[in-house]
Amino acid sequence: MLPKNANLQKIRDNKRTYGITPHLPGGFIKPELMRRFAEVAEKYGAVLKVTSAQRILITNLQAEDVEKAWQDLGMQPAMGAANCVRSIKVCPGTAFCKRAKQDSVKLGLELDRLYHKQEMPSRMKMGVAGCPNSCSEIYIKDIGILGTDKGWTLYAGGTAGAHPRLANEIAADLNYEQVLRLVAVIVDYYRQHAEIERLGQLIDRIGIEKFRTDILKEFHNDHETMPQIDHQEFVQKQEPAIMGSGTKQMAAGDPITANSIIGEIIQVYPQTIPVLRSFGMGCLGCPSATGEEIEKAAGIHGLNLADLLPALNKVI
Ligand code: SF4
Repeated sequence: MLPKNANLQKIRDNKRTYGITPHLPGGFIKPELMRRFAEVAEKYGAVLKVTSAQRILITNLQAEDVEKAWQDLGMQPAMGAANCVRSIKVCPGTAFCKRAKQDSVKLGLELDRLYHKQEMPSRMKMGVAGCPNSCSEIYIKDIGILGTDKGWTLYAGGTAGAHPRLANEIAADLNYEQVLRLVAVIVDYYRQHAEIERLGQLIDRIGIEKFRTDILKEFHNDHETMPQIDHQEFVQKQEPAIMGSGTKQMAAGDPITANSIIGEIIQVYPQTIPVLRSFGMGCLGCPSATGEEIEKAAGIHGLNLADLLPALNKVI
């Protein structure tokens, strides 16, 4: 019989081993708790594995040790019913990351408190990222929330796995209360309208326009302070993001100024890459960095623009 709160991990020579995953809200763990994980692993001959959901799996356990391991840990399992809200994946945000625009830890922990293990029509995954770099992979979450200079942007319907689907943008420029309210509306809608299907499958079945219209109508019913969102405006807003910034792109012969975008600089003048690296800017493949103005990136890295700009212009 399957031990409680454990997953069958492997059957080898007719012997079964099990894994358990305690709940770690936001993926944070105190040193003393980390020591307890290590003690349990040593005591029962288990293996520790950091998971993609920001948890620590204790695996290779024997069935008779599962209950004892839970008692030694004194923790709650991360998993509830099969179809429930899983751990909320949270990036370090303003608490710990220099690129953050919003406090993803505060929002992620609140979502964890409100929704973790709540039963749903199917699995539901949520993610919160403090900036468009999306380190917590919000575009492949059922509900993904992204911090920008203007607040929060909410996406819905993303999944990874065997049938990947990128999430659709539902609303932008939301404040903290508005984004929590919009999540509540989507969760309610999903519970009422979904069969045994992920949120993205529900959206594909009824159509994104109907989904967005229904969600925003319900949202506005209860929330008059929310700026009205126009669907056409969304489409128009997203096009420049796909096609480029809409402002004049850098061309060969243009000087590099404080407002030049890093991605354009290295595209037009690849000879600047070693110079940028020599100043300590090693993150040139990072989407956030390449979309930034050189002045802003220099500030993030603590560099003096008066030294950097002449060095760059010298090699072009
Ligand atoms: S998503 Fe942005 S704020 Fe969050 S860890 Fe990544 S770079 Fe930092």
